[in-house]
Amino acid sequence: MGHPKQESTVPSLESDKPQGAQGEGEAASHRFDDLAAETLWDYAPAPETVSVPVADRQGLFIDGDFCPSDGKEFFPSINPANEEVLSEIAAATQADVDRAVQAARKALPGWAALPGHERAKYLFRLARRLQERAREFAVLETLDGGKPIKESRDVDIPEAAKHFFYHAGWADKLDYAFPGRQVRPVGVCAQIIPWNFPLLMAAWKLAPALACGNTVVLKPAETTSLTALRLAEILQEIELPPGVVNILTGGGETGAALAAHPKVDKLAFTGSTEVGKKLAQSAAGTGKSLTLELGGKSPNIIFEDASLDQAVEGVIQGIYFNQGHVCCAGSRLFVQEGILPEVLGKLEWRLKSLRVGDPMDKNTDVGAINNREQWQRIQDYLQQGRSEGAVLHQVGDSSLPDRGFWCQPSFFTGVQPSHVVAREEIFGPVLAVMSFRTPEEALQRANNTPYGLAAGIWTDKGSKIFEMAGRLQAGVVWCNTYNRFDASSPFGGFKESGFGREGGLQGLRAYVKLQ
Ligand code: NAD
Repeated sequence: MGHPKQESTVPSLESDKPQGAQGEGEAASHRFDDLAAETLWDYAPAPETVSVPVADRQGLFIDGDFCPSDGKEFFPSINPANEEVLSEIAAATQADVDRAVQAARKALPGWAALPGHERAKYLFRLARRLQERAREFAVLETLDGGKPIKESRDVDIPEAAKHFFYHAGWADKLDYAFPGRQVRPVGVCAQIIPWNFPLLMAAWKLAPALACGNTVVLKPAETTSLTALRLAEILQEIELPPGVVNILTGGGETGAALAAHPKVDKLAFTGSTEVGKKLAQSAAGTGKSLTLELGGKSPNIIFEDASLDQAVEGVIQGIYFNQGHVCCAGSRLFVQEGILPEVLGKLEWRLKSLRVGDPMDKNTDVGAINNREQWQRIQDYLQQGRSEGAVLHQVGDSSLPDRGFWCQPSFFTGVQPSHVVAREEIFGPVLAVMSFRTPEEALQRANNTPYGLAAGIWTDKGSKIFEMAGRLQAGVVWCNTYNRFDASSPFGGFKESGFGREGGLQGLRAYVKLQ
């Protein structure tokens, strides 16, 4: 323990009230300010001590081997916490894409013909090896992506291993998954993933595809290629047959070339709705099968009969976890009118205890924003929110590191449904708080979005949960919890959040042809 935290200089709720929300948070805010000053302490630094060497330059992984790209272009992978270059990554060309797809095609008949229990052995080995190397992967994920080490260590890597374990279990039971049908793999799968959960998204894509007998060309996001490439080392260690998984690094051009390749049978994409729409257009009429996991603007709804401390903790988890770089982040908070002051007071108090800073420190709650472009996008939204008349609150410790990309956890009050911060996905630690009077109004406002990925309901009443959950247009509805995932539980969107499911029995469906 060190010294007590300094009081924030940023205006608190009572000094900067939104128009039309006079009185919000006043009494509660005073009470929690006092409490915060008395009880919040800094911890001594607790840096992760394992250091993970990273090669200066990285090639591609094609046909079971690391190899140079056909082109000469490299791009830097940067540690977003200090802007240091970690490694130079190859930008795969059209010729590289051809080679990788060819390798996957060549490997397909052998892999598809393996009995399910033999494919399962590879997946079990992969999962176990990932567990054995978990600490190395956690450090690498945090270095490359900026997320706190406690999240890489406790969420990303264990969940990725679980995904391989879970799907290993399905590999020899596909006939039971789809009773009475003949199950065949779809073929060569192109899988394109984003930067927010780099290894976990790779596991979500690879595990079901391999369990069902498909072969894969995977493209990680350009800012977070390192754990995908390190996973290729494990693929070699477990002696996965060459060509079953190929990994191509690169940006949008590489992704577009892979998605458009005529020898690809299935495209699975996770990323922005904007790119998802382009891919849907390019796949139309080609006979390729397609699943899209896209953006979101998910509502978190607190009713006055909820357990408020639990609800506020869920809200914090829902939006500030992983710097808000979560597709299903609960970025719109709807609070029943009578409890709004108390909820805002508790939210402000809890925000004061969040530790923002060095992602390698085991006590850090909020790490670095993944890349400069995203950081700029968040700053623009913060500016836009203010210029539209919403009130910005940044109440936590404001002493952010000098280098790197940082954003203080923030929330807006005085938000109108028409405001950009209430409508568009910010993909950062920024919450828009609004109020409602009746469950019907909450439903209407929650569903008033082009997205439909997730939603949260906080109430003591089971009947209200069932009524709301049935009518919320969201692929996942969490009740009295938020951001909980499990490999056996399907995840995916409605409307512009995409289609198809990942995880569970439903997630297998995208990787099989049924006869
Ligand atoms: P992005 O769409 O910019 O990039 C995602 C991936 O697509 C990257 O690998 C990128 O290189 C590639 N890409 C870019 N342009 C392409 C093109 N024209 N053709 C083919 N590939 C292309 O998204 P991002 O900024 O990396 O990630 C953030 C977005 O991802 C957010 O909108 C978030 O909500 C979404 N996301 C959704 C889920 C989900 O499960 N629904 C999960 C994680 C992230």
